[in-house]
Amino acid sequence: MRLIERQALVGGVWQEAAEGRTFAVLNPASGLEIAQVPDCGAVDAQAALDAADLAFKSWRKTTAARRSAVLRRWADLMLAHQEDLARLLTAEQGKPLAEARGEVAYAAGFLTWFAEEGRRAHGSVVPSHRGDARIVVLKEPVGVVAAVTPWNFPLAMITRKIGPALAAGCTIVIKPAEDTPLSALALARLGEAAGVPAGVVNVVTTRSPADVVGAWMRSPLVRKLSFTGSTATGKLLMRQSADTVKRLSLELGGNAPLIVFDDADIEMAVRGTLASKFRNTGQTCVCANRILVEDGIHDRFAAALAAAVGALKVAPGEDEAAAQGPLINAAALAKVERHVGDAVAKGAIVLAGGAGHQRGGLFFAPTVLTGMTSEMALAQEETFGPVAGLFRFKGEAEAIALANATETGLSAYFFTRDLARAWRVAEALEAGMVGINEGVISTEVAPFGGIKQSGLGREGASEGLDEYLESKYVLFGGLSA
Ligand code: ADP
Repeated sequence: MRLIERQALVGGVWQEAAEGRTFAVLNPASGLEIAQVPDCGAVDAQAALDAADLAFKSWRKTTAARRSAVLRRWADLMLAHQEDLARLLTAEQGKPLAEARGEVAYAAGFLTWFAEEGRRAHGSVVPSHRGDARIVVLKEPVGVVAAVTPWNFPLAMITRKIGPALAAGCTIVIKPAEDTPLSALALARLGEAAGVPAGVVNVVTTRSPADVVGAWMRSPLVRKLSFTGSTATGKLLMRQSADTVKRLSLELGGNAPLIVFDDADIEMAVRGTLASKFRNTGQTCVCANRILVEDGIHDRFAAALAAAVGALKVAPGEDEAAAQGPLINAAALAKVERHVGDAVAKGAIVLAGGAGHQRGGLFFAPTVLTGMTSEMALAQEETFGPVAGLFRFKGEAEAIALANATETGLSAYFFTRDLARAWRVAEALEAGMVGINEGVISTEVAPFGGIKQSGLGREGASEGLDEYLESKYVLFGGLSA
């Protein structure tokens, strides 16, 4: 593997942690160490911030065309190294290679998209309220951005922030998740080759996130935080941002409902459920978590889903035939085991899987449960694993009430062939994103984000760029003379 970097990137310099500490990155399929990376602390965080602040002074003045060209070159380099990046991603994250290759393309898509959007960050001229004055609105970069990202999409969750930040003229300090820093470092190396100037993108690896991110949250130099991760950490960072009133983008947890109505195309519903529930071995914030199935179709759907899930090949992601890989770490496995144990203890029936996979380690058998109820832990919390729990309902009103009975509102899915119902239910669901007859809806061209406790702001689409821009209103007065 050629793209392994073992140092942090601060101000254009690849370096060790100031205190010299390192930590191990493990392959979740084997438990073996892949590499050691710097375990940075507050000193390194401050150095990265100073570098980003210095670089901002010149990067903000570069032309949109130049920024666009750098981002496009970076995306091209990602695609030229797609196989290397995918293998590294699979090694540290565990997802099947086909999914990793897909993530590289998806991640590069954000750089390309914002290379284009940045060239059209028009301000405006406003009809003035006075004859002797003219009004214009300028779009300006927010400033230095801090990005804190999760391990489930180690490339895409970063380019989704780098793309709009750089296109807008911002500079960025990034703290990747401790389980998956190698993809972030490889990405930064390609950025350097694409011509990203020193200090514009900085990557600080650590296994003590509170030390690094805490330094950024306290600093007035950081004008915006873009965070993707758990709702608990998001709330903590939201509180920490109050003292310096930072702009915030928060992409937090979900507890997505997926509804199968009696009138659904059953094959399409099974395919969509598999795709939504089992992508990345169930470890995405938009994975279906509660599968609500109408009474009349329930038993046929459950049997067809169990057959399809039972046929999923569980293997290390490096195996080209793998459909399901390992979970990311022991805590993730323990949560999945707790959810299944709790459901079974409260009366759920296991139609497929239901326990650790025979491969052992962090592998869990893809599971289908029926007889789920709202008292079970899986109904309340995101499982983040390969467990499809089926809840039986009668009628549209009950489905909508069940679907919305959660504090989060990221994505929701439903399957129906009735056009009027499609509109009605799409409008009634409390979610930032809705998939109708489709289980995978993420794309750089559409606004991604949640309502309720799933977060603030949108990523991707034209909305994604606005998050990194300020509107400055300028009035030209005294013009009548
Ligand atoms: P997950 O459960 O997906 O690991 P987390 O919210 O714990 O979700 O992690 C998402 C990101 O937030 C990671 O980069 C992690 O290092 C970071 N993080 C976790 N705890 C803190 C904290 N106290 N302060 C700042 N960042 C944190």
